[in-house]
Amino acid sequence: MPYRIAVVVPTPAHSTIGGTLTYLSELPLPPGTLVRVPLGSREVLGVVWDDESATLPERDGVETRPIAGSLSGIAPLARQWRQLVTFSANYYQRSVGEVALAGLPPQLRDLDAQQLARRLKRSVAETADAALATPLSLTSEQSGALATIETERGPFLLFGATGSGKTEVYLQAVQRMLQREPQAQALVMVPEINLTPQLQERFVARFGAGNVVAMNSGMTPAQRLRSWLAAHGGAARIVLGTRMAVFASIPHLRLIVVDEEHDPSYKQQEGARYSARDLAVYRAQLEGAKVLLGSATPSLESWQSSEKGRYRRVLMASRVGSAASGEGSFPTVRLVDMNLQPKNTVFSPQLLDAIQKRIALGEQSLVFLNRRGYAPVLACTACDWKSECPNCSAYRVFHKIDRSLRCHHCGYTERVPRACPECGNVDIAPVGRGTERLEEHLGDLLADVKQANGEPVRIARMDADSTRLKGALEQQLASMHAGDVDVLVGTQMVTKGHDFRRITLVAALNPDSALFSSDFRAPERLFGLLMQAAGRAGRDAAQAGASEMWVQTGHPKHPLFTNLRRHDYPAFAAQQLKEREQAGMPPFGFQALLRAEARTQEAAQAFLKAASAAAQELEGADRVTIYSAVPMSVQRVANIERAQMLVESASRTALQRFLAAWQPVLQATREKGLIRWAVDVDPLVI
Ligand code: ADP
Ligand code: ZN
Ligand code: ZN
Repeated sequence: MPYRIAVVVPTPAHSTIGGTLTYLSELPLPPGTLVRVPLGSREVLGVVWDDESATLPERDGVETRPIAGSLSGIAPLARQWRQLVTFSANYYQRSVGEVALAGLPPQLRDLDAQQLARRLKRSVAETADAALATPLSLTSEQSGALATIETERGPFLLFGATGSGKTEVYLQAVQRMLQREPQAQALVMVPEINLTPQLQERFVARFGAGNVVAMNSGMTPAQRLRSWLAAHGGAARIVLGTRMAVFASIPHLRLIVVDEEHDPSYKQQEGARYSARDLAVYRAQLEGAKVLLGSATPSLESWQSSEKGRYRRVLMASRVGSAASGEGSFPTVRLVDMNLQPKNTVFSPQLLDAIQKRIALGEQSLVFLNRRGYAPVLACTACDWKSECPNCSAYRVFHKIDRSLRCHHCGYTERVPRACPECGNVDIAPVGRGTERLEEHLGDLLADVKQANGEPVRIARMDADSTRLKGALEQQLASMHAGDVDVLVGTQMVTKGHDFRRITLVAALNPDSALFSSDFRAPERLFGLLMQAAGRAGRDAAQAGASEMWVQTGHPKHPLFTNLRRHDYPAFAAQQLKEREQAGMPPFGFQALLRAEARTQEAAQAFLKAASAAAQELEGADRVTIYSAVPMSVQRVANIERAQMLVESASRTALQRFLAAWQPVLQATREKGLIRWAVDVDPLVI
């Protein structure tokens, strides 16, 4: 008699959470085995799931079909991996099948048995390694940090200033662990694909190409499969990746590093909206591995955990080499009071002057503005036409380079009209500015300025537009490192992680909107951004003392800037946490959002209202607060209306219980015109 086995399959998002399907198999298959099974008229990849195997009761009237085959060349996925998947699905309110299958490389599903066997053979081919780089000799702060990580249990929050040498600590923590245990594996996560090449280079130089694999969404399906097989088979000792790597199968996982742990990119923004940082901490506990979160500006959640002793805080306060250059190894923060400047000033004379001095010295400057394109709006000077997107409640951005109007929400693109579409006036003008316009403007301002060698000033721009083509980013970074650029203009992309050695001046042109945003996390993000940006200046110890961070603001007395001037993250965090505690905001309260998308705003809100009404009946509803349904800040995208509703609780457990009880109610709630809905647990943007 064949065995009855439980299998998770790629199920739609809201099918019953925890649900498995039953199949028949001639052989007993241990949980974690990858199988191919029929589902409707298709054949899909599935994973044999836990315990119920062979004991599943026969269900009346439901025909149980046999599996189509098993991927016998691949070892079953470990129990811990399955637990991670189950936990994530439950916590983030998605189906186990969706999370499980999203965590596997897509090619596993697409290749037949023969093709897979070939891949498996290829993946074990040894690569001959070049001579390995020797570890740096550590500073005393680095040794101290490493000793703590070696001897204590963690989780660790490595609170290390920009340039304090966190990467070297990661490298050596990994190295020691690998040396101690012959099979051990490590997972190292970074927030952005952009940051993987340079980190990969350092890990490969230290550990050899055969030991390191990358995992991110920029890789081809074939590359992803190869990395996955190498990690799953244990050949790859180190997995380097972005948030998706948290679901990699790493059977001998002993150490997880989350670099720049504060970065919002760790939160997945569609499907199962998981936080890879939070899951890393959970996974480490599950696997008995150590976890090391690193940042110069930790998330307030992690900081609070380190205040309470749940995380072990490890401090590295000074920059590498700062002892040699004496005090003041961080850039001096200079605030320009824009109230004292003529209205519409882009560059204050002080800042422009400072940039020119740097150019004369042959040093680099970095100017950042968080908006790409030429201008956020194009407007008619005669009537009130503006470059609104016909499909979204947003303006289309003017990109001068290809004279296009592009919607950054739905992608709708048109050529710039010759005349106003409403009144025919030919005088239509850009309003506001983005990086493209800033680059042009700076070019005008510095037109007569020369480098020390008499050559004209070289200005470059780096943002999502300039780096769209493959290889463009690498090329732009290389020219920065080579010193072929004097002033770099860019979005926040340029402020992250890069080890630019020649930058001595960083300027933030207009950061004020975040000071008064309705988003309670805006100040945290701004402070982090400015500290990170400041961290790009003076990374070469010889120049560190003379480097500067300029901020143009209309609110120079704002406490955020006072703390920025002192490079005092702890003071900033203390002030923010006090406000959050008073307001019951995270990390003192817990939140989830219910989002709905529909053909009309009324339908979206009607669904939320019905969900809210039904919730009142549920057990545990008294421990959560459900707010009113409201339109999202960008209310309409691609002709779909969007609304959301906040749910809050003082207890994470109470919120989780409530959400679990609410889920079937939401699934049963019907609303005409509703397109989709989703729950976002621990949302980052509200
Ligand atoms: P962080 O990530 O903390 O901002 P990095 O890891 O990028 O800092 O290190 C800053 C710079 O200091 C890098 O160029 C790195 O190579 C260098 N560095 C780190 N540790 C040492 C050390 N022990 N001796 C010499 N240089 C070091
Ligand atoms: Zn007009
Ligand atoms: Zn649009």
